[in-house]
Amino acid sequence: PAYTKDDIRQMAKDENVKFLRLMFTDLFGTIKNVEVPVSQLGKLLDNKLMFDGSSIDGFVRIEESDMYLYPDLSTWMIFPWSTERGKIARVICEVYTPDGKPFEGDPRNNLIRVLSDMRKAGFTAFNIGPEPEFFLFKMDENGKPTTELNDKGSYFDMAPMDLGENCRREIVLTLEEMGFDVEAAHHEVAPGQHEIDFKYADALTAADNIQTFKLVVKTVARKYGLYATFMPKPLAGINGSGMHLNMSLFHDKGNAFYDEKGEMELSEDAYHFLGGLLKHARSFTAICNPIVNSYKRLVPGYEAPVYVAWSGSNRSPLIRVPSSRGLSTRLELRSVDPAANPYLAIAAVLEAGLDGLRNKLAPREAVDRNIYRMDAEERQENHITNLPDTLHNALKDLAADETMRNAMGDHLYQSFIEAKNLEYNSYRTQVSQWERDQYLELY
Ligand code: ADP
Ligand code: GLU
Ligand code: MG
Ligand code: MG
Repeated sequence: PAYTKDDIRQMAKDENVKFLRLMFTDLFGTIKNVEVPVSQLGKLLDNKLMFDGSSIDGFVRIEESDMYLYPDLSTWMIFPWSTERGKIARVICEVYTPDGKPFEGDPRNNLIRVLSDMRKAGFTAFNIGPEPEFFLFKMDENGKPTTELNDKGSYFDMAPMDLGENCRREIVLTLEEMGFDVEAAHHEVAPGQHEIDFKYADALTAADNIQTFKLVVKTVARKYGLYATFMPKPLAGINGSGMHLNMSLFHDKGNAFYDEKGEMELSEDAYHFLGGLLKHARSFTAICNPIVNSYKRLVPGYEAPVYVAWSGSNRSPLIRVPSSRGLSTRLELRSVDPAANPYLAIAAVLEAGLDGLRNKLAPREAVDRNIYRMDAEERQENHITNLPDTLHNALKDLAADETMRNAMGDHLYQSFIEAKNLEYNSYRTQVSQWERDQYLELY
């Protein structure tokens, strides 16, 4: 909502708000927050609240570490779980430098920048509908997560198979109290796995919503003695957790992807955007699937994509065009997982699509067969390439793509690649139990 400073002061007073949680997101997608007593509200509203950014991942600046938090008043929200001693409100902030410029290392600022390029290209909004999946694990007496799942349920199961149902219901109610428009909530294919879908919103709001969503899911799960994780593949042998992104561009006449007279009722813009997504698919993978574990999900057999292709019907390719048309005409990108920093992932796919529009890139033919049943030769005939199979290979593609540099800006692009290479190297030099089981006695 478009709150004024006065609205905020009034709401803080009427609702007995005692603390303000000022949130922003670091390079890795982790929500950071500074909590200040409500006495600091005036200072906050005047963009005068300062913090030391030097120990935030990806925030290091050579010049100085002082940074300012500029609140985005539209994100003001009072947590429903506040205590009687006073309520806690949160507001999402933009990080600014002391000379009053948006800090380039702030992923949210970066998305705002890419969205302004989109407006210059003649569009009014980039809409995103995310489908985040997560697992609920039991916790031990010390409140530490175990690897024991909380149920044996499967897709669309109901209680008593789905013990997570009460927990999931409370998550949904809490989200609704916080202004979310929840469209569906259900048990997913794997035991202990769930999905909650909420209504699409413009890119910035959608990214903010994803961050709030994760916080709510984790907070409510704890109340039930459960640990909610968005790790993409917590257990081998069963489905992992994705976060499909449904996306569409709007202009002042409505959904720019829809054209009654177009092939499959899709517009030229839709095909060009799709062409851009396919062209840059390998290089935005490191951003949309940013951790070592992400690549354990992108394997055949678990409903996650492995090949770069699109389809109007089946769910095996990377990009699906769901059948709804009109206002709901959209592309569904199925590779993204919930470990992705939503601000970076959305900026990356938008820039890829805009590149497709600028250069009128045409997508290859749709692949309406199950790609998993094709052999390598058939895939080659159909020009179907693979997604990168490790973080290492994904980073190589990212580092070679100038469009992705534009999508992130120099600061974020460089710090991301550097940090992620370190992460991969740390993994690469470990010796795992699997290796000892396989090799210790054999050699
Ligand atoms: P699936 O077909 O994969 O099961 P769901 O129905 O679970 O998809 O999710 C659909 C998502 O797409 C919802 O978040 C919905 O709000 C979103 N959506 C609908 N129309 C649009 C649109 N025009 N642009 C972006 N997202 C949209
Ligand atoms: N869990 C699957 C994945 O890893 C997606 C299942 C679905 O289609 O909803 O992407
Ligand atoms: Mg799902
Ligand atoms: Mg989906």
